[in-house]
Amino acid sequence: MNKKRPAEIGLSDTELAIRWQDGSENRYSLQELRRNCPCAQCRALREEPGVQAPPAPGPLELPMLNDTAASATARAAGWELVGRYGLRLTWADGHDHGIYTFEYLREEG
Ligand SMILES: [Zn+2]
Repeated sequence: MNKKRPAEIGLSDTELAIRWQDGSENRYSLQELRRNCPCAQCRALREEPGVQAPPAPGPLELPMLNDTAASATARAAGWELVGRYGLRLTWADGHDHGIYTFEYLREEG
């Protein structure tokens, strides 16, 4: 495994910027990232727009998740690295289930 990983990560109001270890840079629209949230819940919403996702366990479940993922906030509150393979974004509405793998980000960028 010798895949490049982020050397630097920046977050603005509308964009996520990643500088990779090889020096290249990518920018991602937060709106796009949110729309493509890779968590199981949002995937279910995207694939079956007419069907409500089953309620996830836990008191932090937010009613907005019953709406379509596209209408969710695209404002990110923060991020953290997940192991050596991905990046977790925390959205302003508290949604933080999606882990964007570096592989995915490299392909999107
Ligand atoms: Zn999600």
